Amino acid sequence: MSGEPNDIIKQPTKIAVLGGGCAALSLAANINLLSGKQLHVIAPEVHKSDQDHIWGFWEMDWLQDAVPLARKTWHKWAVRNADTEVIMHADAYPYHAITRRSWLEHCNARAQENDVFFHEDMTQLATLSPKQVFDSRPPRREPNMMLQHFIGWEICAEPGSFDDSTAILMDFRCDQSRGMHFIYCLPFSDREALVESTLFSPTLETNEFYETAISSWLKKHAGVSRFNLLRREQGAIPLGVMKRHDPDFQGIGANGGAIRPSSGYAFSFIQKQIDTALKHVSDGHMLQFATPHKPIDLWMDKIFLSVLRYQPRYAPKIFTALAGSLTGDEFARFLSGEANISLRAKVVAAMPSLPFIRALLRPDEGEP
Ligand SMILES: Cc1cc2nc3c(=O)[nH]c(=O)nc-3n(C[C@H](O)[C@H](O)[C@H](O)COP(=O)(O)OP(=O)(O)OC[C@H]3O[C@@H](n4cnc5c(N)ncnc54)[C@H](O)[C@@H]3O)c2cc1C
Repeated sequence: MSGEPNDIIKQPTKIAVLGGGCAALSLAANINLLSGKQLHVIAPEVHKSDQDHIWGFWEMDWLQDAVPLARKTWHKWAVRNADTEVIMHADAYPYHAITRRSWLEHCNARAQENDVFFHEDMTQLATLSPKQVFDSRPPRREPNMMLQHFIGWEICAEPGSFDDSTAILMDFRCDQSRGMHFIYCLPFSDREALVESTLFSPTLETNEFYETAISSWLKKHAGVSRFNLLRREQGAIPLGVMKRHDPDFQGIGANGGAIRPSSGYAFSFIQKQIDTALKHVSDGHMLQFATPHKPIDLWMDKIFLSVLRYQPRYAPKIFTALAGSLTGDEFARFLSGEANISLRAKVVAAMPSLPFIRALLRPDEGEP
């Protein structure tokens, strides 16, 4: 009977997450899956960004909440260089694009339902004295580290300008003189598309470089010279293993090793990291966020990244060869960290051997 002196009212266990971006809010949206926990998100206004952008991801089990919010879905995508075009088809794992704004709005609404507390002042941490603290502030970048850097234009052109049945994941028909460079084009309709100039290299270029690449690709390869610029996005995602923002706190999201070192994909891996952690707790373990990448994938990524950095001239051939040797579903599984041994063997067999042998022997050097 309630109200007896022996009754113990169990207080929820406080946990805190520092930073309020993709990982922190994705956790807040799902904290109801843990009983007896009270989540506090500590996110100072001064560090907040309102920049909207697109997150691309392949449909996987851990992305069931994101899939219905996708702005557009493609079962076909293309990878091409000057000589070869590969069109891949996926049945089970299509490619989706979601806007940052719609995902964060969804997470904020779920966080309200889950009674998550939001604080702006970092000094609140001491007052709250939570049982566990997770840190989603950005990890520390090593100087001269490899980056994925880009500018994207969302444009509106004449009807019939784009084939919206096919996303262009990589088109290498652009200036390769500064490192691996490709155009990423997500057609949302036959007249609207996000067109991005993306480089993998340690050095940022001037805005003019990316923007010239976009406009000349549009003119030369899409036949589009008149359009309205609707939105612009810009980013530089660090590639490689990084140190945590503060070694005293366990990381989550990018600060918990979620960015895939060879591709810069983060959104899918953040959701995977959180999904795995919450399932682990329901098996009776403590809440912990491990890197969502398998050691074998991290090792393969290190070699791959060395080839892209020091021998970038092979990149257009490598990616078309990879696309040509896998089905769309296999490609999606490989890039989402779900490859098994036979799929990994297929990937290795598709690669040109010389640059990879060189990278294995001398990972920090280019061609002699
Ligand atoms: C334009 C753009 C396009 C992208 N496209 C893709 C894509 O297509 N697919 C994909 O997977 N990834 C993409 N990314 C990368 C992806 O968005 C990030 O890696 C992802 O947001 C990481 O989530 P996170 O929660 O770890 O970090 P963030 O979302 O960056 O959150 C970090 C939080 O920490 C806060 N913060 C920062 N410094 C401090 C501080 N000193 N004190 C307190 N708080 C602090 C910030 O305000 C923020 O709330 C893109 C990034 C950009 C910028």
